[in-house]
Amino acid sequence: MIGHSLPPPHQSSISARQHQLTHNQLVNFLRFEINKAEASATAVLIMKLRRAKRLDAIIGDISTQSINHYTNQLLDNLLRDADHYAHFSDDQICLVLPNLANNAQSILAAIKILSELHKPFIADDYPVMLRPHIGIANFPELGSDASQLLMYADIASDIAATNEQGYHVYQPEDHIKTEIYSGLDIELGKAIKANELHVHYQPQINIQTGRCLSIEALIRWTPPGQRVISPATLISIAENAGLINTLTLWILNTALRHTATFLKTGIDVSISVNLPPKMLKDKELPQIVQQALDIWEVPASQLTLEITESLIIDDFESSLTMLLRLRELGIRLSLDDFGTGYSSLAYLKRFPVQELKIDILFIRNIHNSREDTNLVRTIIDLAKNFNLTTVAEGVEDQETFNLLRDLGCDLVQGFLYSHALSDTDFINWYHQHISALHTSLGTSINPKS
Ligand code: C2E
Ligand code: CA
Ligand code: CA
Repeated sequence: MIGHSLPPPHQSSISARQHQLTHNQLVNFLRFEINKAEASATAVLIMKLRRAKRLDAIIGDISTQSINHYTNQLLDNLLRDADHYAHFSDDQICLVLPNLANNAQSILAAIKILSELHKPFIADDYPVMLRPHIGIANFPELGSDASQLLMYADIASDIAATNEQGYHVYQPEDHIKTEIYSGLDIELGKAIKANELHVHYQPQINIQTGRCLSIEALIRWTPPGQRVISPATLISIAENAGLINTLTLWILNTALRHTATFLKTGIDVSISVNLPPKMLKDKELPQIVQQALDIWEVPASQLTLEITESLIIDDFESSLTMLLRLRELGIRLSLDDFGTGYSSLAYLKRFPVQELKIDILFIRNIHNSREDTNLVRTIIDLAKNFNLTTVAEGVEDQETFNLLRDLGCDLVQGFLYSHALSDTDFINWYHQHISALHTSLGTSINPKS
């Protein structure tokens, strides 16, 4: 079939075996393997690499090339002769493993790759640690459409990003995620109109005083009779369906409406709203934000917009212009998921943000990992140098809280205090929290009481 476009399978060169193909060659290779007569079990793996020692990387200016060189060498040594891979982007590698005795072998391969890639290595004289995660889609279980298999592996890799073992095998139950590519967008359009969506609020606590100073608005959607749809999926559906502006506007207005109520009842909190990257391209954004503030009479200084770090690099100059316009309104800006993107110090210096949110990825294991502790310390010190407030996400226990306090973090957000709550539940939570705080005043802060 299409196999003729492949290079000779294994040129017996002097160096290590060559498994790397171009994007197109790999897709053709996959098509060839799954369409040939008597095709055997084949797995498609999508591996996403996240660099953990990002700050060292920034300081050392480690090139993507050096990291690719390392991962290629490692894969060339680990893979069987028949396996191939291609770089789909700087931090995404797709692997095709044909002729498997059974599908369990794809899991073994994933575990082997993950355990090797977890080991720190030196690139351009600096230590680098990767945090890879792998999504697996198995042929023939999932059909013989190559693009479908690639899509399933991609979805599985997103799920893998959030689980302990670092890999996930695509299951038909994961289908809800595939709705991104099919029908749910129509439902979402209706849901926005039918008020099926809800905005919940998660408290952010001053680590020194224990007071709740601000809340983050987080979207919630459970279509009638269906399972909860994760916010990340919801946002992708909205982006793909061209509904992201409508949705964001709705979230912003709802959040400000509730905040106005909180302020009127004496709950003095600021509100943080997530801004999807695409919204920064909307030239009318500043007017939209100003109007929403005016309607609900919330002071601009009480609103923070959270933007993800990846956005900086995508389109730095035009993002910068937009962020400066937003700042002119008097609102605050926060850099979300800090540590997972690719921002460099040079960018950070020019970026008009007031806050860094340290990603949950670095907080989760902080008290078991010297690496993570050092990384978080570096981020906090860095933030202090730039006069930025730091918020740690995903604080689930007292040890983590204590450690972050010792490291000089300003605010914490996480299940230790509360999940995201509906507006009425938040009001109740707040009053209980305040009275608990008063009771324990004079002694140490006991956020759980
Ligand atoms: P994010 O902005 O990083 O939000 C923090 C996420 O961490 C939330 O997940 C929150 O529920 C979760 N979280 C908070 N504390 C803890 C903890 O102690 N442990 C653990 N394991 N998780 C914790 P959620 O609500 O599922 O949202 C996921 C992502 O979806 C958000 O990540 C954000 O990127 C996006 N998102 C959520 N709501 C909105 C929204 O209204 N607009 C936009 N554009 N994106 C949203
Ligand atoms: Ca956020
Ligand atoms: Ca995050």
